[in-house]
Amino acid sequence: MKNPEKILVTGGSGLIGSALKRLKVPNAIFLSRKDGDLTDFNQTLKIFKKHKPTHVIHLAAQVGGIGGNSMHTGEYFRNNIMININVLEAARLTDVKKLISFMSTCIFPDKCEYPLNEKNLHNGPPHPSNFGYAYAKRMLEVQSNAYRNEWGCNFIVAIPTNIYGPNDNFSPTEGHVVPSLIQKCYLAKKNNTDLYVWGSGKPLREFVLSDDIGKLAIWALKNYNEPSPIILSSGAEVSIENLVKMIAKEMNFKGKITLDSSKPDGQFRKPSDTTKFLKYKPDFKFTSIEKGVKKTVRWFIENYPNIRK
Ligand code: NAP
Ligand code: GDP
Repeated sequence: MKNPEKILVTGGSGLIGSALKRLKVPNAIFLSRKDGDLTDFNQTLKIFKKHKPTHVIHLAAQVGGIGGNSMHTGEYFRNNIMININVLEAARLTDVKKLISFMSTCIFPDKCEYPLNEKNLHNGPPHPSNFGYAYAKRMLEVQSNAYRNEWGCNFIVAIPTNIYGPNDNFSPTEGHVVPSLIQKCYLAKKNNTDLYVWGSGKPLREFVLSDDIGKLAIWALKNYNEPSPIILSSGAEVSIENLVKMIAKEMNFKGKITLDSSKPDGQFRKPSDTTKFLKYKPDFKFTSIEKGVKKTVRWFIENYPNIRK
């Protein structure tokens, strides 16, 4: 009898991991740091030998927004490169059939041809605000292809844009813009203060709800086999100004919104090329930012103060 598929999800307690749990993927094992530290190779190999997965969705990473990334360039570089080296090596040694891992459009060259295309990933240095994270993450594609060439590993890589959703990291200082602003808005309302938005409010970002990425991770694990990565995005850009208005509306915040120009804008925009994605998934419907923000705000309010912060 053929062995059934067994999917190991590293980083299963995080933002995308929780979305995968909600999708009730059969035969999936969800790991968190409690199961072992993936920056340690012996612990990583032990986990793989224990569970013997046929498939891996590799999500574990040290992840943050512009604040976390620029404050901890060394930590983000070291932890991410070690986690990735260990996870892919343990997967190779235990004969995992297929593995998907995740980079991000924020690791593309700062000065890049727009829209961002999979082919241009290594053609220049990343934005200085996240160079530690970016260089570590770029190596996922290098390691996956090196392993594919020498050992025939079917290791694929996806590139999502800015993800948000239930169980996000709502830290006002280190989280991504959507969860940070949700918690900041909550606190401003509670304390009767201004809502401070970082930068000029002008930058543009492409946002995608974690539930959409969860569905696409499963799809890619089954159907995508190219050595080159695939960008996962709707291609719709939203300005930070408009995002703030949506969050303030959903939070019923009537106070003053103040731009804090002492804080960075980061890269002005990172529009992505969705040509490859649309070739595979022409009918995929991304959740609109309005619906996604509503869902995330509702989750935040229902779960506060038991949130990741
Ligand atoms: P997340 O919510 O921050 O979750 C990170 C996960 O990694 C948690 O389950 C955490 O476990 C685990 N982890 C961290 N360090 C670990 C270690 N040393 N050993 C074992 N586990 C460890 O991350 P996410 O937002 O779901 O991101 C998932 C993937 O998508 C990452 O590879 C990220 O780079 C990529 N991505 C994210 C975004 C985004 O906007 N969030 C955008 C593009 C790409 P604990 O819960 O136990 O700490
Ligand atoms: P990025 O998309 O990788 O740059 O990361 P973020 O999710 O942190 O988004 C950063 C963008 O949102 C920048 O243009 C920031 O100036 C803007 N922004 C505005 N307010 C905040 C905030 O409270 N937290 C974060 N992380 N970004 C903010």
